[in-house]
Amino acid sequence: MSIGKRDLGDDNLSLDDTDMEILALPEEADTDDDDKMNLDDSSLTLVVDHDSGIDDESYSDDTDFNRSSPTLKTGSYTKWHEGDPLLRKIGLEKLNDRGYVNLEAICTDRTFGYPGDRALNAARWRAKYEVQIGLCSQIIEEGKKKGKYGKLDKFHRIHPIFRQDNWTSDDLLMGDESNCSFNKLKPVLQLATLLLEDETMVGYIFNMLDVDSHKEVTFAGVENRLRRNVYGFQQRHNLSGAERQIVWKDLCELSKTLWWTEKDMTFEKESFHAYTRGEQGTIEIVLDKRHLDYVCREVSPTEDAIDWKPGSDDDSARLRVMFNLATTMIHEVMHALWRNKYYPDYEPFYMDTRAAELGFQWEQLLYSGQIDNPTSDRGSPYILSISKWPSPGEKEDSPTILMSHKKWGSSNAYQEFAVEMSFVQNMFTDEFWAEVDRYGISKFWPRRMLGVRSTVVSEYWEAESPIVRGPTDGRPSSPDGADSKGIIDRH
Ligand SMILES: [Zn+2]
Repeated sequence: MSIGKRDLGDDNLSLDDTDMEILALPEEADTDDDDKMNLDDSSLTLVVDHDSGIDDESYSDDTDFNRSSPTLKTGSYTKWHEGDPLLRKIGLEKLNDRGYVNLEAICTDRTFGYPGDRALNAARWRAKYEVQIGLCSQIIEEGKKKGKYGKLDKFHRIHPIFRQDNWTSDDLLMGDESNCSFNKLKPVLQLATLLLEDETMVGYIFNMLDVDSHKEVTFAGVENRLRRNVYGFQQRHNLSGAERQIVWKDLCELSKTLWWTEKDMTFEKESFHAYTRGEQGTIEIVLDKRHLDYVCREVSPTEDAIDWKPGSDDDSARLRVMFNLATTMIHEVMHALWRNKYYPDYEPFYMDTRAAELGFQWEQLLYSGQIDNPTSDRGSPYILSISKWPSPGEKEDSPTILMSHKKWGSSNAYQEFAVEMSFVQNMFTDEFWAEVDRYGISKFWPRRMLGVRSTVVSEYWEAESPIVRGPTDGRPSSPDGADSKGIIDRH
């Protein structure tokens, strides 16, 4: 397939084109009959301010609406839980009792992540490559013993994409070893490195960038509506050593043309965690400054939290922010990889998934869902939750969505589960990564023990025929054990 087939038609990409990740939150109501999400009710529509925040219209931004909860159009979501069913129905006290909010003690390892072969292979290749290109003079594996895995020099525990000279903020770029801002960011960058190079997703990146392997996705009427042909790819398994190296090299190459900037998105781009812009040779990833303030600049992540007993713990919230930031960074790197080779072509679909968004798709495949704050608080003062991507809400005229949730035949039952804090903490331990070595991708899937099912009321889009794509026709695919209030409790 030649890239030339990916005609953009008359519309160029714009910020509006990325609206499909908007998550429709359930209606705020204090009655028991509050389970309905009516996506057509404009008072519930979650919108982003399209008129502000675009510095340069010639760029198109990949934006992250659902890496946080979107800006709310009306003042109806003034409650602290912002209508999130998990927080509203289950409540902080119960969530905390079950291990979803505060950790009594936080146990992480400073140099987590390289006890086994999987991560080491990529990191060792990278270390050798960096010697080859003269970026560093030697490789030291600390504590290498016969019959045991070596521990890679700490310099190589952070991928060059994330290294200090790719940051533009003074305190991150200029600081030396004693500088605490960059040092405090290191666990996030190390986690990001492990996520980026993990064996489970290398075949995703390989085929995502191998456009000759992409296949046309055809559904009646879709190409007409989108005014272009659409293409899908599938994750490769069992890559050869040489094919892995192609991915590793692409990642190293990207590190030479990418930089990280920060922006306080409090008023403009309120709904973004981050966005990526630029094209081949000049890729900029803009992060919400507040995330970095909470992680490495002594700002309290719970400063805006409500008063409750026992109250949100700073260190636990900060750990959620750290996890979220690492995930956000890799999400954006997926967009950056695509842009650096194929901008301005549209991102491909994953197989025949309803929406095309390489960052969220990466999250869905790795974590078996999208993990984020259920409220718009940037300090993550309450919980993290996981839900399926793509979510039911979307804009009809989006050029990156194939069809409506209803036409797709997706279930009307929408589930959101709380993510255990032990899951978040484990990511920062050697033990977790040793388990990933042993058992693979399933270690990245949070247990779904406590959640809420909501009912989605979805409609066909205007021009759609009332025939669903699949056989499910909106019925829940399997029983989830929810009670009459929609609460799923498997504890
Ligand atoms: Zn994205």
